Amino acid sequence: MADNTHSSGGPHTTGAQGNPYEDADPITFDGQRSRRQNVSRAQRSYPSRSAYGSPRYAQPSPRRMPSQGGAPSGARGHVSPASTGNFGHTYTGPRSIRTRRKTSFGILASIIILAILLLSALLWWINRPVRVTVNGNEAQVRVGSTLDEVFAASSLSVRPGDYVSVSDNVIKAEKGRRFSALVNDEQLSAEQIDEYRIEGDEAIEFGDGDNVTEEFTYESEPIMPYLRMEGSGYSLQYISQWGRTGELQHRVGKDSGHTADVVTKEAQDCVITCLDPYFEDKKLVALTFDDGPADPYTEQYLEILGRYGVKATFFNLGDNVQAYPQLARRIVEEGHQLCNHTMAHNQLTAVDNQVVYSEITRSAAVIEEATGIRTAHIRPPYGSFTERSWLGSGGSITASINWTGDSKDWELPGVDAIVSNSLLNLHSGSIILMHDGGGDRSQDVEALPKIIEQAQSEGYEFVTVADLMRAVGTIPEEVCSGTGTMPDDAVWPEEISPEDIAAAASAG
Ligand SMILES: [Zn+2]
Repeated sequence: MADNTHSSGGPHTTGAQGNPYEDADPITFDGQRSRRQNVSRAQRSYPSRSAYGSPRYAQPSPRRMPSQGGAPSGARGHVSPASTGNFGHTYTGPRSIRTRRKTSFGILASIIILAILLLSALLWWINRPVRVTVNGNEAQVRVGSTLDEVFAASSLSVRPGDYVSVSDNVIKAEKGRRFSALVNDEQLSAEQIDEYRIEGDEAIEFGDGDNVTEEFTYESEPIMPYLRMEGSGYSLQYISQWGRTGELQHRVGKDSGHTADVVTKEAQDCVITCLDPYFEDKKLVALTFDDGPADPYTEQYLEILGRYGVKATFFNLGDNVQAYPQLARRIVEEGHQLCNHTMAHNQLTAVDNQVVYSEITRSAAVIEEATGIRTAHIRPPYGSFTERSWLGSGGSITASINWTGDSKDWELPGVDAIVSNSLLNLHSGSIILMHDGGGDRSQDVEALPKIIEQAQSEGYEFVTVADLMRAVGTIPEEVCSGTGTMPDDAVWPEEISPEDIAAAASAG
């Protein structure tokens, strides 16, 4: 490849060397061609020189030829100190420095002028006038003006607020805020008024100034929440909102010495929601057994439930769990829900609040000790549990569960009656009450399979109370599971809300 390039370039170069004569002669040196054509062969041995320069140099002395070859004419001579005789060339250096200085000065001046212009433009921009509307009248103000400046320029007449005591008595008239301001339909606070800067095109409405309250010291006192009940329904009551304290400040004015009580934070009531679960889109029913565990019935129930693959809920008495802890454990081990039926089956509406609390908490402790299960679900004995009872529970429970269908098995009415009582008004959300303790339960042992078969044949699914509560969809999981406790920042109420007391009184 390289050989080809070389061999093809060689002849071309040779040809080019000859061409300058051929091209230049007809144009620049017309008429000399004939003489040049007669030049001897020896003279034509320096063709390269002619290629660089004018043909006028074609006849220098042979002595100078080597130095000229290939270099622009005279270039070397100028650099040599021997050539200082050439004045024109000697001053070429200083003159070009002076030119550069002149140029630098010109650029610098341009930059300074440009900077001054930009700065002027910037100063104008940051102080430019803008239009605003002040109480319906158009006005022109400097951008960035404060509302104080705009107000002062407006010569509007509004009444300043007063300087007042903590008890709202006037200490100094008209020594409050000079004006109030509504900017683009937003009422500004005192702080916002001070910080506001005009941007342009605002609609500003100045009005009477607000009062300024004196500084004060205070002592704060918690405001206790009330207990309140919501909704209606007998079968399910649960805590839908925990109570939280508010704050009351006892204020003493630094200037006036006046005092005032001010609520700075409202208390949040503890709310018990009552409802009867009802489902349109699924058929759920809960079987519940009270007063156990008992020998031999609890085990017989567990065997029947296991045979049908049914989960149920057992409300155990603490006394009986102490007697049969292994039965309580088996209830849990077989996947049923174990809840609290109090320690000794006292009617909670007939005892003091302290007894309510101890009946619930002692039994819960016994159940936890026997099974490891912490339960905050109770079934109150006889289904008796009022708002007053809730107050007594002291935050130890999250739900109280009654029933919609009573088997009346405690009447020993016969197997068929227990079955028909249990399934009376059966609906999705039903909670059926039966007993595994408290007496002869042999009729229940016969009735239970019939109840299960009848309900299953109608498409019902048996679930625990916890799952029935989950199906409601609005009850917090820790309440559904029965494992929830009162949050650390919550407080249990000491009183029932005045509204609930009045409603109970009017209901008789
Ligand atoms: Zn009972």
